[in-house]
Amino acid sequence: MTTTLITNIGSLVTNDPALGEGPLGLVRNAALVLEDEKVSWVGPATAAPAADQAVDAAGRAVIPGFVDSHSHLVFAGDRTAEFNARMSGQPYKAGGIRTTVAATRAASDAELSANVAKYMWEALRQGTTTFETKSGYGLTVEDEARALRIASEHTDEVTYLGAHIVSPDYADDPAAYVKLVTGEMLDACAPYARWVDVFCEKGAFDGDQARAILKAGMAKGLQARVHANQLTYGPGVQLAVELDAASADHCTHLTNADIDALAQGNTVATLLPGAEFSTRAEWPDARRLLDVGVTVALSTDCNPGSSFTSSMPFCIALAVRDMLMTPDEALWSATAGGAAALRRTDVGHLNVGARADLTILDAPSHVHLAYRPGVPMIAEVWRKGVRAV
Ligand SMILES: [Zn+2]
Repeated sequence: MTTTLITNIGSLVTNDPALGEGPLGLVRNAALVLEDEKVSWVGPATAAPAADQAVDAAGRAVIPGFVDSHSHLVFAGDRTAEFNARMSGQPYKAGGIRTTVAATRAASDAELSANVAKYMWEALRQGTTTFETKSGYGLTVEDEARALRIASEHTDEVTYLGAHIVSPDYADDPAAYVKLVTGEMLDACAPYARWVDVFCEKGAFDGDQARAILKAGMAKGLQARVHANQLTYGPGVQLAVELDAASADHCTHLTNADIDALAQGNTVATLLPGAEFSTRAEWPDARRLLDVGVTVALSTDCNPGSSFTSSMPFCIALAVRDMLMTPDEALWSATAGGAAALRRTDVGHLNVGARADLTILDAPSHVHLAYRPGVPMIAEVWRKGVRAV
């Protein structure tokens, strides 16, 4: 057993209101003790107990590790040309996914695994200590199962997204593809996944198809999450609440009924501002959700097509600038909100018993994540009680 004291913390975000100011449970002049993988003590630096080793935070801020609850990292290839064309005036369409499907199918296991490792390391260096990732660029039984097996070698938060788009191989018979996704493909994929997801959108899957796909996954023991209401209004958000999905992701186009459903249910609204940024789309209305008490998570949606960023600090800055979230709300949504979207209670906060996942910022306050956008702010990242960056 090893204990580590992190002391002289100028401003500590605990996300436990019982420990400090406001919803972030902010403690000034704080200290933390890590014991093996967990936090064993939190309080004022002047009262900190002795430990085997000590780290001097030198007045800087400490925050919980980011929980990125939505990414698509099992892919190969590149869509620079598509991004360049879009930024030159062409609209984003769901079909661009097919380009990545072809490249992913052609890639070796080693290439795909190296890609996942590369982007997870990139994210870790930016303070992300919990990472969800998905399949969805294979779209055959073998390629989807392979993607999930590879993802499961890198993270516990693995999502089966065979229903990303209708496979190009089934373009003339979408019903047969839904049958595959809910049958043979699900059987091959379920052992590697915790979650089942569907892109419920015009050009992808409609409400009835999405319900069938999610229910089939749930019958196999997977929990639901939904790509909902990204490009257009649609049934995705209300379906997510109806099925008690952990999260409805995107939530860019919401009716009053969608907002009411989220406010009354247990489904987190996960906002992905990197996607709006990278497609020049209109921003989700975070204020409308927050003001009626919906739990909001922020995530990167890291994928090669519509949001090729692994940076939670960048998403925080966008959320504050363009989605009118306060810096405190954005920080909470990127940590505790992400944990809620993954139904995790061990991460996203820093109180006694929490997993010792934290970041020391090169700044006196978490507000600097939005105040100084694009500036490297991550000084140290600790994961499971061990310094990782
Ligand atoms: Zn996505």
